[in-house]
Amino acid sequence: MPTSDLFRVTPGSSVKLAAIPADGTPGLPDDGDQARTLAEAELIKHRERIIDIQYDLWAEDRRALLIVLQGMDTSGKDGAVRHVFSGVNPQGCRVWSFKKPSEEEADRDFLWRIHQRVPPKGEIGIFNRSHYEDVLVVRVHNLVPEATWRQRYDMINSFESLLMDGHTTILKFFLHISKKEQKERLQARLDNPRKNWKFETGDLEERKHWDEYQRAYEAALEKCSTAAAPWHIIPADRKWYRNWAIAAVVRETLEAMNPKPPSPRGDLSKVRIED
Ligand code: AMP
Ligand code: MG
Repeated sequence: MPTSDLFRVTPGSSVKLAAIPADGTPGLPDDGDQARTLAEAELIKHRERIIDIQYDLWAEDRRALLIVLQGMDTSGKDGAVRHVFSGVNPQGCRVWSFKKPSEEEADRDFLWRIHQRVPPKGEIGIFNRSHYEDVLVVRVHNLVPEATWRQRYDMINSFESLLMDGHTTILKFFLHISKKEQKERLQARLDNPRKNWKFETGDLEERKHWDEYQRAYEAALEKCSTAAAPWHIIPADRKWYRNWAIAAVVRETLEAMNPKPPSPRGDLSKVRIED
């Protein structure tokens, strides 16, 4: 069974995040130590394959892979980028982090800034937060009228099908952490001087809206998991599990894309390089 089947949100199904253990390790042995050892060893193998296939994707120059990472503060979006994609050729991979829109961005439609950053042919694009913020933080804080954000699910689905109609494969990951785990990670940002820079008091404000965020995520996962651009719910309380799971799904997806470098220009067997 492909690993992605463990996480994929079946289109049209309903999502109850509370029913999915954030500290689960589906697909790995029940014994925690054994699971971790295996996951860490397999992560290295997954990464090697990702690096190899990215070389071919870049050489082929006909298709792109877009990876969307979403999750609550401290859910491990940055960590996933670091651990899953280290070693990938930076020439063919770009990471974009989406913050509160600038004035210039806020004066346009919500997809304007996103569309400019989708990966061109040959590349992997990683979105650390994305257009989904416009149905998450925007919904939780009523940043636009309800009628406006309600329309956006369909707009997002149309936008994603536009991208796929071109040349882009889309993979979406929701990093599912528990409220308890978030508390520990926020505390670590306070306690560890090297992590102090990550601590934002605003994150404590957002934490107060935990339940509303969970509802907003459920809606996005339900309405925008399509057959072609599925959402994956990744249990993310254990960092090693999160890295293993995302790497496995990315690897499977790249293997299924199976990019091939273009055939040589002319008959190379006849080429002689003079001394
Ligand atoms: P971080 O990912 O920790 O750097 O935080 C980025 C912040 O930008 C988060 O609090 C997001 O909710 C916020 N953000 C991202 N996109 C939007 C958006 N479209 N509207 C409002 N806030 C956003
Ligand atoms: Mg933050």
